[in-house]
Amino acid sequence: SPITTDMGTLIQEIDKFARDKKLEIETLKVREQYRKEFFGNVSHELKTPLFTVQGYILTLLDGAMNDENIRKKYLERASKGVERLVYIVNDLDMITKLEIGDLSLNIESFDIVKLVKNVFEMFEMRANDKRITLTFDMDYPKPIMVKADKERIQQVLINLIINSIKYGREKGTTEVSIENLIKNKVIVRVTDNGIGIGKNHLPRLFERFYRVDKSGSRTEGGSGLGLSIVKHIIEAHHEKIYVESEYGVGSEFSFTLEKAE
Ligand code: ADP
Repeated sequence: SPITTDMGTLIQEIDKFARDKKLEIETLKVREQYRKEFFGNVSHELKTPLFTVQGYILTLLDGAMNDENIRKKYLERASKGVERLVYIVNDLDMITKLEIGDLSLNIESFDIVKLVKNVFEMFEMRANDKRITLTFDMDYPKPIMVKADKERIQQVLINLIINSIKYGREKGTTEVSIENLIKNKVIVRVTDNGIGIGKNHLPRLFERFYRVDKSGSRTEGGSGLGLSIVKHIIEAHHEKIYVESEYGVGSEFSFTLEKAE
């Protein structure tokens, strides 16, 4: 770079340097805060299932093992706790990759109608347990080809459909619809008539670990990471995600995708 001789310019440059450094420090501080919160949340999330599992195992060792019925029941509960831990660790793994930007997308053309049907099949039993009907707006019997990372979009559908069941009402419905948008886009909607979400929660809904009703959803076994994973995946595709919801009425999550020509 050219040697600065002019005193005024030199002072300006020093000023600029100082401002840049200050910004850098601010950014680092924010990041550090973020990191602290993240680890705080992670250990908090892991503690509950870990202590549950520990509790059942200790009780078994303490003598409960001798009763066959109790043994089975406690082992099943411990296993549920471990399952939850696996869930959380998998979600954390995915979110870390997404946040580092380490997850390259594998873009291909595929039929989104078929993908939705696959996901419905995966969760048919779970929906049946709650007598929730999974319906597909069948105005679209034909394949709809989109261009995206199929595995990641499947993950998005899984997370949204699981939520619609978890937070759905007994005998409720989950409906998926796909609609052509202007230009080369489609919009995929997942609509339920479940418990809904209060307006005040909507701005923070996609944050990691954010839950509307901490105690209520905890029993459902989520990690509080589902929606933030959804948002990351959609944004990695440079697409948009929306939520509309009314407390006590139901929710609609929708996202856009690029059509394959
Ligand atoms: P979780 O593991 O708690 O389900 P998510 O990130 O998937 O985490 O969702 C965050 C929160 O948003 C949930 O705890 C729940 O309170 C709310 N939520 C998500 N989907 C729905 C839905 N379809 N209906 C009502 N509430 C929902």
